[in-house]
Amino acid sequence: NQGLEKSSQGFFDKVSKAVVGKSKVDEDVLDDLEEILIRSDVGAATTVKIIERIEKRVARDKYVGTEELDTILREEITGLLLENPHASTQNIDVSKKPYVIMVVGVNGVGKTTTIGKLAHQFKSEGKKVVLGAADTFRAAAVEQLVIWSERVGVPIVKQGMGSDPASVAFDTVQSGVAQGADVIIIDTAGRLHNKVNLMNELTKIKKVMQKVIPDAPHEILLVLDGSTGQNAFEQARQFTAATEVSALAVTKLDGTAKGGVVIGISDQFQIPVKYIGVGEKMNDLQLFNGAEFVDSFFR
Ligand code: GDP
Repeated sequence: NQGLEKSSQGFFDKVSKAVVGKSKVDEDVLDDLEEILIRSDVGAATTVKIIERIEKRVARDKYVGTEELDTILREEITGLLLENPHASTQNIDVSKKPYVIMVVGVNGVGKTTTIGKLAHQFKSEGKKVVLGAADTFRAAAVEQLVIWSERVGVPIVKQGMGSDPASVAFDTVQSGVAQGADVIIIDTAGRLHNKVNLMNELTKIKKVMQKVIPDAPHEILLVLDGSTGQNAFEQARQFTAATEVSALAVTKLDGTAKGGVVIGISDQFQIPVKYIGVGEKMNDLQLFNGAEFVDSFFR
């Protein structure tokens, strides 16, 4: 799995170091492991869950050698990721045409880049894509999305700065339907200063889309920066409280040793991590695969 080297680097080494000179998984080893998981940004709740599972195995088997720890950890973490009931390797539901994705997330996490990469991916699958620049709050956001639309070669619907995001969303779905689009991707403003505002704005955008496509949006994709650790958890908390987030894209996993965020957020919010961003280029987006991710985390 190319691009994830940095995320993985460190975790296995740290676990190995924690068990040097020890033959048996005991309280000390588990304490060290707990600290390593926390420092890897797995999050407190998920760390406790993992440690408890290992404690149970130790209690059951009486003796667990430290040489088995790596395998056991992998099994437990993979299990956690697969227990997420919504985990799916499906890209989109093609029975919905157009399939409407509303993209949410705070500024700087890689929202625009992710939209560009997604557009590229869908287009290279032969799908017709239309983008909507409903983050009308920042001129730069619209400009960036226009650049991506040109780079990828897909149409974009936009209005002037400061125009009503819901109006842009409405125009976009209307234009998408008229053009026979397969996928519509709508960018939204990621201001978090006020939860009620955020909720109202997202609700309004959804409502106007539904005038054209009653069951839209089919996906609300929250983009999180995987290198920001606890901030990513906090953003997940706020956005899931404000709207029905149905999938996650975790970006910048190429540049961090903290890929544990993916494990913790998937577990705590029970929302599938659908995509991971592993670089700044058009092709640096992957459909998330739990087993593969755990493998790379340990490599
Ligand atoms: P937005 O404000 O959320 O729309 O963020 P942008 O899409 O403009 O991205 C912010 C910065 O992060 C840009 O410099 C992107 O090139 C960079 N970026 C986005 N995704 C990734 C990723 O997966 N890996 C890396 N290394 N950089 C990324």
